[in-house]
Amino acid sequence: MILDKDGVNMRNNEKKLGIYIHIPFCKAKCLYCDFNSLPCRDDFVPAYFNALKKEIAFYAGRLNGYGIKTVFIGGGTPSYVDAHYIYEVIAHMKNLFDMGECREITIETNPGTLSIDKLTAYRSMGINRLSIGLQAWQNRLLSQLGRIHKVEEFVENYNLAQKAGFENINVDLIFGIPGQTFGDWAETLECTAELEPAHLSCYSLIIEEGTVFGTRFERGELVPVEDELDRRMYWHTIEKLKSLGYKHYEISNFSKEGFECAHNLIYWKEREYVGLGAGAHSYFSGRRFNNVYGIEKYISTLSQGCLPVENPIDISKEDEMSEFMMLGLRLVDGVSAKEFEERFERGLLDKFGSQIESLLERKLIEVDNGFVKLTRLGLDLANQVFIEFV
Ligand code: SF4
Repeated sequence: MILDKDGVNMRNNEKKLGIYIHIPFCKAKCLYCDFNSLPCRDDFVPAYFNALKKEIAFYAGRLNGYGIKTVFIGGGTPSYVDAHYIYEVIAHMKNLFDMGECREITIETNPGTLSIDKLTAYRSMGINRLSIGLQAWQNRLLSQLGRIHKVEEFVENYNLAQKAGFENINVDLIFGIPGQTFGDWAETLECTAELEPAHLSCYSLIIEEGTVFGTRFERGELVPVEDELDRRMYWHTIEKLKSLGYKHYEISNFSKEGFECAHNLIYWKEREYVGLGAGAHSYFSGRRFNNVYGIEKYISTLSQGCLPVENPIDISKEDEMSEFMMLGLRLVDGVSAKEFEERFERGLLDKFGSQIESLLERKLIEVDNGFVKLTRLGLDLANQVFIEFV
C-alpha cells in the first residue's frame, strides 16, 4: 500500500475514481433552480432506482482496476426519497465495484426531509459526509427563493445530524439574492458558522434562463443585486470565515483543516469520475460524456439494455492541459508547475508562457513558490483568467 499526493491509500497500479450519483427528485422546485430535478414525481422513484442499479451493473466490468475513492450522491434532493433506495444503490456498488478504500461518501440533503431514523440509516450504510442546503438564515429570503424549509428546520436537522454521529457536515449558502442586504448575509454567515460545520460552500446567485427567477428578470420584475454589493459580500465571506479558522481552498469553498471535499477535488484536479443517473457527466478513459437528461428517457434506455450515454468527446493531450489549468486555478493554492510537468512531461511555461505572462501583467494571477494562482483581483474576475486557457 502506498499513499498518493492527497493522502489516499493506493494499491500498486490501481487507478482511482470518483462516482457521482444523480437523484433528480425534490419536494418542490426552487424558483432559481436550473438543476435536473423534478418536484413531486414520486411515481418515477422505483423505476428510476431500478435503472440506476442497471447502470451500476453496466459499469461493473468497465471499472476493473479502478478503486472508488469517493461517492457523491447529489441532486435534486437525495434525502427526499426513502432511505432504503439509497441503501440499495450503495449496497449494489459495494458488491460490484472496488469500494474497499472509499474514504468519503457524501449525500446532499435539504432541511425538512431529514429525520433521526433516516440519518442513522445513512450512517449505517457508510455515508460519512452530509451536505445540507440552507442557503439563507432569514425566512423571508428562504420563502422568496421558493425553498421548502424555514431556518428553524435547518437548525433542528443540523442537530439531528450531529446526534446521528455526522462530524463532516457541509452547509450550502447563497449570497447575492435579490432583496438580501449586506446585514442579512453577515447574519447568515455568523449564525451558520456558530454551529461549526466542517465545511461551507458559499455561491453567488446566478439568475438562470428558464427558471422562475429568469422569467421575472426578463420581465423586469426581479432586480439583481449590484456587482459592488455582491463582491462586498464575497470578500466579507473570505475574511470572516478565515478569522473563524476556515481554510479558503476553492473560489467558493471553505473548510476546517482536513475537511476539504475529496470528491470535488477530483473535479478540480482533473481526475477521472463516472456520473450515474439522468444527466450526470463523466470524465473517464480519456473521454467526457453525459447521460441523457430526461428521466423517462434515462429509464427507458436502460430498460432496453443500453447505456444512456451521449455526446462523447475525446479529450486530447492539448485539451487535458487546458482543462487542468482552468479547473486547477479554481483552487486557492493554484496549479503546481511541478505537478503539471510530471503529468504532461512538458513545462508549464513552455506550454502556457504567453497566457501566464499576459495574466501576470494584468495582475490576475501570481506565481508563488512554484504555484500559479489567482490574485485577489483574479478571484473576482476568474472567468477572464479561465478563458485564456480555452
Ligand atoms: S432543492 Fe436544490 S435541486 Fe431541488 S429544486 Fe431546490 S435548488 Fe433545485
